[in-house]
Amino acid sequence: MDHTISQQLFAKAQQVIPGGVNSPVRAFRAVGGTPVFIKSAKGAYVYDEDGNRYLELINSWGPMILGHAHELIEKAVSDAIRQSFSFGAPTRKEVEMAELIVSMVPSVEKVRMVNSGTEATMSAIRLARGYTGRDKFIKFEGNYHGHGDSFLIAAGSGAATFGTPDSPGVTRGVANDTLTAPYNDLAAVQKLVEANPGQIAAIILEPVVGNMGCVLPVEGFLQGLRALCDKEGIVLIFDEVMTGFRLARGGAQERFGVTPDMTTLGKIIGGGMPVGAYGGRRDIMDYVSPVGPVYQAGTLSGNPIAMSAGLAMLKYLNETPEVYRQLDVIGSKLINGFKASLSKLGLSYTINQVGSMYTLFFTEQAVTDFPSAKTSNLPLFGRYFHAMLERGVYLGPSQFESMFLSTALEAPHIDKIIKANEESLKEIL
Ligand code: PLP
Repeated sequence: MDHTISQQLFAKAQQVIPGGVNSPVRAFRAVGGTPVFIKSAKGAYVYDEDGNRYLELINSWGPMILGHAHELIEKAVSDAIRQSFSFGAPTRKEVEMAELIVSMVPSVEKVRMVNSGTEATMSAIRLARGYTGRDKFIKFEGNYHGHGDSFLIAAGSGAATFGTPDSPGVTRGVANDTLTAPYNDLAAVQKLVEANPGQIAAIILEPVVGNMGCVLPVEGFLQGLRALCDKEGIVLIFDEVMTGFRLARGGAQERFGVTPDMTTLGKIIGGGMPVGAYGGRRDIMDYVSPVGPVYQAGTLSGNPIAMSAGLAMLKYLNETPEVYRQLDVIGSKLINGFKASLSKLGLSYTINQVGSMYTLFFTEQAVTDFPSAKTSNLPLFGRYFHAMLERGVYLGPSQFESMFLSTALEAPHIDKIIKANEESLKEIL
């Protein structure tokens, strides 16, 4: 494949953008080589500046659950832009959006729109602190909640990929209020709570983790956290920025049957536009300004173009519940194909999957937390990534990411990905 134009653009980009990218994982640092510069996308395919076509499993890191440039969303956005781009005043669409989220997500009685997942989690933690009058919170190693200061402690995603899970620039004071526990380790959480009596405002987690690769909660983990939070008056926050509207209509909380006090959302609710949201119990949400004392605001919050894209997306998902069965079938077909290839080649790498999220870990250990994810052979993953890319399959360029499947993947696409996977594994052995 020719990547000349991408290489030229990357050389220019590095002169004027740190690392040549506007979000670190895009730089291909973890896998080596030059990032592919994307020009357009439609359905299951993305096209780069050199004219190469790829079947892709990133889907903008989650939002494009119906594939790229879906006509419903395209129409909603083009209708909306004729009515101007931003008003900084309330709109009908914000009401419709909030009503829809409340009707779909079990834990959400009231919701506030923001502009990114990072804003959603930052605001949720501030609110939990204000509501409880407590300062500390617990997060889990390898979970990623955006780049707010207090979350860049033992963080996943790009922070894990680049070896900076604890970022310079975060003050010791802030870091002291973030307590971390190993994912899936209820006993460790209990110990932290006992060691900090009456001081923990919130426990925040990805109910299924996407940001150390895809890692599922073990039996009883989510239920155990729920019981502990009830007992101790701690606000349980599910960060469903990735899993919301992806693992079920009502997200991971519906799929796993555990209802948190608050939920953070992003990605799919914007249909590809920059959006986030946080919501939850009415008594907690009414603690936000202007009714409550906890301040949070945004010039572009509830932006009408973003609301239009998100509404078109959520309405479709709400009215078409078979989407989730379809995604489960696509996920199982793909993973069964991968597993067949692994056993044919005598390999026993670990695959974690739930619905339309999966990660193939280059380790033989079960991956249930960050240390086990880190036993993966990262150079081997890098070679696999490039072998797939050269076969026209564009994966997330890091072992510590989940892949995201879309409904645009049809049987021939799935067969092609399974074939590319088998050939790539053979090539790198
Ligand atoms: N929370 C989770 C679980 C995420 O996966 C992400 C981003 O990937 C975020 C929060 C931050 O969202 P954003 O990148 O929109 O700020």
